[in-house]
Amino acid sequence: MKIFRTRSALLKWRKTHRGALGFVPTMGALHEGHLSLVRSARKEARTVIASIFVNPTQFGPNEDFSKYPRQIEADAKLLESAGCDFVFAPKSVEEVYGRLSETSIKADTELSSILCGPIRPGHFDGVCSVVYKLFSWVRPSLAIFGEKDFQQLQIIKAMVKDLELSVKIKGGKLIRETSGLAMSSRNAYLTRESRERASLIYRVLSTSKDPHSAKQELIAAGFDVQYLECRSEDLRTILPGPKGRWLVAALFEGVRLIDNVKR
Ligand code: AMP
Repeated sequence: MKIFRTRSALLKWRKTHRGALGFVPTMGALHEGHLSLVRSARKEARTVIASIFVNPTQFGPNEDFSKYPRQIEADAKLLESAGCDFVFAPKSVEEVYGRLSETSIKADTELSSILCGPIRPGHFDGVCSVVYKLFSWVRPSLAIFGEKDFQQLQIIKAMVKDLELSVKIKGGKLIRETSGLAMSSRNAYLTRESRERASLIYRVLSTSKDPHSAKQELIAAGFDVQYLECRSEDLRTILPGPKGRWLVAALFEGVRLIDNVKR
């Protein structure tokens, strides 16, 4: 597996590459959720490239950008074991962003005004901006995004449609720990015991009869619930439940967890 640490090395390789290319963008601190996306890309494209970049523009001023886990060597080993061929892991933020004042992408305003949008102002614009740049350098035929970040997946699909980008977007299944807790790089901030307790989120999303009682149950168990809603698959309509896509964001012991379940 070859790792590119600069944009120029990536671009040089890309000029010579031919054939279907599957792409998995990540922020690193990889786990089985990320690796399942690589395996899924592997099934559809002859060559697979992943990226590892903790993107500053998608973090708010009081979020965990500086403490976000960075473990490039361990990540590279995991990617190789999952059958990844190439990795783009820019060595600095400057490899990706030229100027603070540079042009950026504005995410679909309807999709980014709901759920995580109001809680993380500018987050989805930052995601779209970096993904747009990565797409223009990597020029993949297919890109895979996890259903773990279901709102992000819908927003990327909207960007690709609206800007007529020639890349196919596929959703990858949400991978969970045995307890049911959605795998996340941020789970590393929790102790093993807290992770077990946090798995209540999944049970509540899977079994509650309506969003209101689900929210109350999580609050009673010590979660600080930012939202808990049931929506249509395109997220544009709120539903009473139980049928629909249930989505939640909650702080548990100060760690922000998101999850979603389709019922
Ligand atoms: P991140 O490194 O958190 O930016 O995630 C990179 C990609 O991996 C995104 O498309 C995520 O949706 C996806 N991902 C993260 N966690 C999971 C998971 N538990 N199951 C499936 N995909 C995931």
